[in-house]
Formats: sequence, structure tokens, C-alpha cells
Amino acid sequence: MRLKDKVAIVTGAGHGIGKATAIAFAREGARVAVVDINMAGAEATVAEITRQDGRAIAVQADVSQAASVESMVETVLAWGGRIDVLLNNAGITRDARLVKMTEQQWDAVINVNLKGVWLCARAVAPHMTAQGSGSIINVSSIVGLYGNFGQSNYAATKGGVIAMTKTWARELGPSGVRVNAVTPGFIATEMISTIPEKVIHTVQERTPLRRLGKPEEVAAVYIFLASDDSSFVTGSVIQVDGGLLW
Ligand code: NAP
Repeated sequence: MRLKDKVAIVTGAGHGIGKATAIAFAREGARVAVVDINMAGAEATVAEITRQDGRAIAVQADVSQAASVESMVETVLAWGGRIDVLLNNAGITRDARLVKMTEQQWDAVINVNLKGVWLCARAVAPHMTAQGSGSIINVSSIVGLYGNFGQSNYAATKGGVIAMTKTWARELGPSGVRVNAVTPGFIATEMISTIPEKVIHTVQERTPLRRLGKPEEVAAVYIFLASDDSSFVTGSVIQVDGGLLW
């Protein structure tokens, strides 16, 4: 078991990649705090982990709200006694072309995908530095590297996540805390269910592996970054995209 007894926070773990990762972390022996804005989703993930004899707690939190994040971290500390891993996974899209995008769409995505990542890292970092170890994994996207039609807001946040990752790797490295980013390509979850079939077809044609990724295939990379197998890896950006030539 690669995460035996580590306490891990997974945000946005009520659905999709976050849910698959919370389950995978628990199978590797971690005690998992399943965090989501939607308590029903978080509880469903915990039920699945418990069914598999894993250990988990459901915590409701909105990552874009400082008070909610701080209260979530206190709850996790009271339950687990420490925090070894933070997977900053919660994310949303509100797509529109440059001139059609509303201020509301812009702010919503910035608040969850960028501010939320910072708020969670800010709340967790002092506990990790005090214990002299920890792994923060920030979920970016290939869109943060290459941009994407209709996603000014999302691309800005995912590029920003890479910049914050490199900054925190410098700031926290001397205290033994590692910070890395992952850029998934197109992964089959609800998030991409609104993308037209024609676009998905083009994506698959441009992917050497000729298919979409599965949440479990992204979770496998998160396990590596959460575990001591990646003890000399920090400030890295790992692409998990089937080789997509975007
Ligand atoms: P998803 O299926 O939509 O799941 C996202 C989860 O985050 C949902 O459970 C959602 O809750 C929760 N959430 C939303 N806002 C939140 C908030 N303010 N506070 C706490 N939780 C919140 O998405 P996914 O496809 O698994 O994506 C997960 C991450 O991977 C995201 O950061 C995304 O940008 C990134 N990513 C995904 C892909 C892809 O192809 N799927 C590619 C690259 C990167 P509710 O739905 O209940 O509101």
C-alpha cells in the first residue's frame, strides 16, 4: 500500500476524477477527507470507500470561500490528526467566447479554480511545514498550456495553477513539502459531457492513444505524486493526456 495511513484531502471528490481518486487513495491505505460543495456527492463517495473497507470522512466545503475552507481543514485535522496530501481537484467551467463572456462567468471560474486552489493550499501549508512533510497536487489542464476556444476564464485559471505550483514548490520545498501540477487531457467525466461529439472525435484523432482517458488513469498519477515514490519530484507539471497533439 503506497499511501498507508497518510491523511489526504481530495476536493471536488463527489464526482468524476476526484471521486475515482478518493477511492483509489483509500485502496492504497490513505484516510481520505472527501470534500465537495455538494454533501450528497461526498457522502456517496464515502459510502463506496467504506463498502471497500477503506477509511474516509465526507466534508462539505466551498473551496472559493475562505471561512468554509478553514473550517474544512479544522474538521480534517480533528478527524485525522495531520494532513499529508492535498489534491486541489475541484473545478468548474463556464464557457463563452472572449466578447460574449460575462463578468459572472469570469468570476465564477476564477473563484473556484484559482482562488480555491490558493485558499486550500494556504490553509494546509502551515500544518505540512510544521510536520516537515507533505504533498500538494494541483489540478491544471492541457488548456492551461495551450488555451482553448471559448475558455478564456478556464485557461487563465489552469495556467495560473501552474504558476502557483512553481511558486509554492520554491516556498515550501525547504520545509520538506512538495508541490506538483498535473495537466489531464480529455477525460470521460460529466465535465466534458457538454462538448459536441464532432469535437470529441477530433480530439481522439489527435490523440496517439486514439481515445479519451479514464478518471482512474489520472488517479494513478495522483497516487504517484501523493506517495513517497515521488520524494524527489517537486515543481513538476505532468501531462496525462494520451499524447494529445493539441
Ligand atoms: P466534475 O466531474 O465536474 O467534478 C468536479 C467536482 O467538483 C464536482 O463534484 C463538483 O460538485 C465539485 N465542485 C465544484 N465546485 C466546487 C466548489 N466550489 N467547492 C468544492 N467542490 C466543488 O469534474 P472532473 O472532470 O472530474 O474534473 C476534476 C478536475 O480535473 C477539475 O479541476 C478539472 O478542471 C480538471 N480537468 C478535467 C478534465 C476532463 O477532461 N474531465 C481535463 C483536464 C482537467 P458538484 O458537481 O456537485 O457541484
